[in-house]
Amino acid sequence: MKINWKEIETKWRQKWIENKDFETNLNDKPKKFITVAYPYPNSPQHIGHGRTYTLADVHARFYRMRGFNVLFPMGFHYTGTPILGMAKRVEANDKELISNLKNLYGVPEETIKEFVEPVKIANYFHQEIKAGMIEIGYSIDWRREFTTIDPVYNKFIEWQINTLREKNLIIQGSHPVGWCPKDQNPVSQHDTLGDVEPDFTEYILIKFKFEDYIIPTATLRPETIFGVVNLWVNPEIIYKKITLDDERWIVSKECANKMEFLDKKITYDGEIKGSELIGKIVVVPNRNESIVMLPASFVESETGTGIVMSVPAHAPFDYQALIDLKKAKIEPELFKKINSINPISIIETEGYGENPAKEAVEKFNVLNQNDPKLEEATKEVYGKEFYGGKLNLKTGQFSGIKVSYAKDTIKDWLIQNKYADILLELTNSPVRCRCGAECVVKVLNNQWFLNYGDKDWKELTIKCFDSMNILPQEIRSEFNYVIGWLRERACARQHGLGTKLPWDKDWIVESLSDSVIYMAYYIISKFVNDKTVIADNLSREFFDHVFLNKGNLDKVSRITNISEDIINEIKKEFEYFYPVDSRHSGRDLVPNHLTFFVLNHVAIFPESYWPREIVVNGSVLMNGSKMSKSMGNIIPLRKAISDYGADPIRLAIIISAELLQDADFNMESVSGIQNKLETLFEECSRLQPTKSEMIEAEDKWIKSKKHSMVFQVTQAVEKMRLREALHDILFSFESDLSWYMKRASAKNRTNISGILHDIYSTRIAMLSPFAPHIAEEMWEKLGHKGMASLSKWPEFSQSDIDPIAIQSEEYLKSTIDDISKILKVTKITPKRITIYTADLFKSKVYHSILEKVMTGQTNMGIIMKELISDENTQEVKKIPDFVQKTIKDILSDPTEIRRTKLESKNFDEKTFLANELYEIGKKDFGVEIQVFCESDSGIYDPKEKARHARPFKPAILIE
Ligand SMILES: [Zn+2]
Repeated sequence: MKINWKEIETKWRQKWIENKDFETNLNDKPKKFITVAYPYPNSPQHIGHGRTYTLADVHARFYRMRGFNVLFPMGFHYTGTPILGMAKRVEANDKELISNLKNLYGVPEETIKEFVEPVKIANYFHQEIKAGMIEIGYSIDWRREFTTIDPVYNKFIEWQINTLREKNLIIQGSHPVGWCPKDQNPVSQHDTLGDVEPDFTEYILIKFKFEDYIIPTATLRPETIFGVVNLWVNPEIIYKKITLDDERWIVSKECANKMEFLDKKITYDGEIKGSELIGKIVVVPNRNESIVMLPASFVESETGTGIVMSVPAHAPFDYQALIDLKKAKIEPELFKKINSINPISIIETEGYGENPAKEAVEKFNVLNQNDPKLEEATKEVYGKEFYGGKLNLKTGQFSGIKVSYAKDTIKDWLIQNKYADILLELTNSPVRCRCGAECVVKVLNNQWFLNYGDKDWKELTIKCFDSMNILPQEIRSEFNYVIGWLRERACARQHGLGTKLPWDKDWIVESLSDSVIYMAYYIISKFVNDKTVIADNLSREFFDHVFLNKGNLDKVSRITNISEDIINEIKKEFEYFYPVDSRHSGRDLVPNHLTFFVLNHVAIFPESYWPREIVVNGSVLMNGSKMSKSMGNIIPLRKAISDYGADPIRLAIIISAELLQDADFNMESVSGIQNKLETLFEECSRLQPTKSEMIEAEDKWIKSKKHSMVFQVTQAVEKMRLREALHDILFSFESDLSWYMKRASAKNRTNISGILHDIYSTRIAMLSPFAPHIAEEMWEKLGHKGMASLSKWPEFSQSDIDPIAIQSEEYLKSTIDDISKILKVTKITPKRITIYTADLFKSKVYHSILEKVMTGQTNMGIIMKELISDENTQEVKKIPDFVQKTIKDILSDPTEIRRTKLESKNFDEKTFLANELYEIGKKDFGVEIQVFCESDSGIYDPKEKARHARPFKPAILIE
């Protein structure tokens, strides 16, 4: 039966809206406050965005059915520079952008013209995204919608920022940031192409003296200054002569450029060719010793200063380069200088002699400086020296210090003595801004920073993380890592939409700082949208009172002009819904938003309002590759919904991967799911809720299976293993159902509709959070009053799972399997089938052995001894072979099955098979099957097979 998705989806969406099913107010039920990172409206959402929101919606719908009062709201994040950049590109008539807007996003031409105004872009995509969220069936309380440029939101952010500043967590200072030289703005992950967080490394610049100049070299290992014996200069590079503050330096052009952003005054004085420096002498700053500059083509102008130190005792690369140089054609004068160079060893490491670099080069059989084995040699020496090395007497006052501790001490000493300076460089360069410019590291002066480096703040944050639930667990260490490296972070920008810094109106609070505690604002926004609260008079006393229980009500009411009753109502609602019970987001927000969300909560709110859970999901691939505009494989969410239906899209997203994996989306899986839902729908249309009187073995079994499915699905959803849950609901249960149908039809039963109705009702209820529209339709077809989405999540309890029913049905299945196997091997057409079950004594022994195995005893000798010493089982000494096989049987069962068998002690194999095998056996094999217990009198046993019967392993005779 083909489903008209659009019709069904529209029908149920309208009902949800009419009934206000997802509008959540304070009541006396327990609450769940589930939120997901609000979208940035600079494009329509595609399938990839759909994943995070769909997962959160399933979560919200699940808890609603579990009896919680679930608040699931949504806002829109206008703050930031990307929209600004987009407006500029529209204004400049950027062909690529305009073509994307028109063809990829379907924006009307007239509307694009208005996009020169940033807020028009935001408004347009805001409505577009919202329409998509409604069409896909998210159970959002839209009364609480807001944007981050709403006047009341601005007041809220002012309150947040003022509060942080009073706590000394916003500071003014000079700190490095990732920076776009074109936009003149700090950049973070959200502002870069490919969403990379600009990360930087601090190099120490050792200042060598050369005539009137300084020649700096960059290093991460300042201790090597004691072992430097020459410098490497690239003869092909044209170096710049610059005045930096009041010193004259020689560095590469790229280095000079980087230094400009690091708060240095630079004037350009001229140029010098690298080749002119070769053979010249520089003085090592701390020991007034002269060393020579030598030619090296491996030196690059983009890295460091374009000139490097040579430490041949500890750097295999330097050692090899000197050897290669000696072999090359060079002037005799220079050769003499090179020949007189002796490596200086400065580190003592167990296992190494005077020259570790030489040892490593020889050990790895390095041929020349282009040999990749040099990398390995370097890694080995650095590793061993870093963890096991100590500085030797050559390092003067630092002698005896472990290499791993030396860096900071020596760096401080070098800088104090003006022997060195600092260079900051992007570690992951090139990082490009969304405007296309290459980003740099810039030291911002007198700027406003969130002091994320603060030790006490970090400690509090760790405390919160430790008490939080993190799904999936394995992502927890990533958070610990982020908290470890976090440092000061610029919290204001000069451009973009957003809230002005309350004490310095030239600045706008940047987008990763005004989006960290807004979940609290969802309480306020409901009252803003119905005009109860307006921005005028909204002072910080109001927020202090509502959120932090400070100040007195009477005064707050007077200042804000809001009645005491209303303030009380808002405050009560906040106290009811807070804290956030679950925060959903994509994995890319782990190092920024999700961590900042926790940092800001612990700074501002008391512990009782700290967030309780974070759920992180991986991204979405399209047919195995990353989605991108350039690949042309972006499918806008609304188009997908309109083409395939909301529910098939939701299910295809969920079923393609577990939480943290990247989901691989493809259209085949969507149509597969459509088919599956159509079959389910057909079944639901057929079934009637009749009562069934006869309770047959297979009924008890399928009921038990149903309860254990409910148990498994519930557990999986609680842990957000939605793929597994959905798979159980849609597919795993099918094989059980088809066995049940087979059993019922073998008995020609006509009274199972009631049981099937019950099972399908359970499945559809559990399907409802995943595929909400079609589940409502199926629910209605099943004859239920009310909505599936508001129905109770199916109940289950361990006592509803009947171990004997499960065990006996498995027993029947395996007996039939065994018969089929024998028939297949022997290729006989059976005339007569006889089954022999084990006698009572064997059954007693079996359970005795099972009990022993369950306590961990699997040793045949010991088990045998114990059985013989028990008078109930001592006769077992006549059948040692049976004991051995039984132990094997038991061990080959999974623990779960062993437990059920343990619980089904009173299971009577013969009676069960005699009753149940007859019909199905006749149907499957076309003959009547006779069942005996091996100790029966009058037994038909011409081949003496009966004595081979074991519990759960009947003997079979086929003639
Ligand atoms: Zn830029």
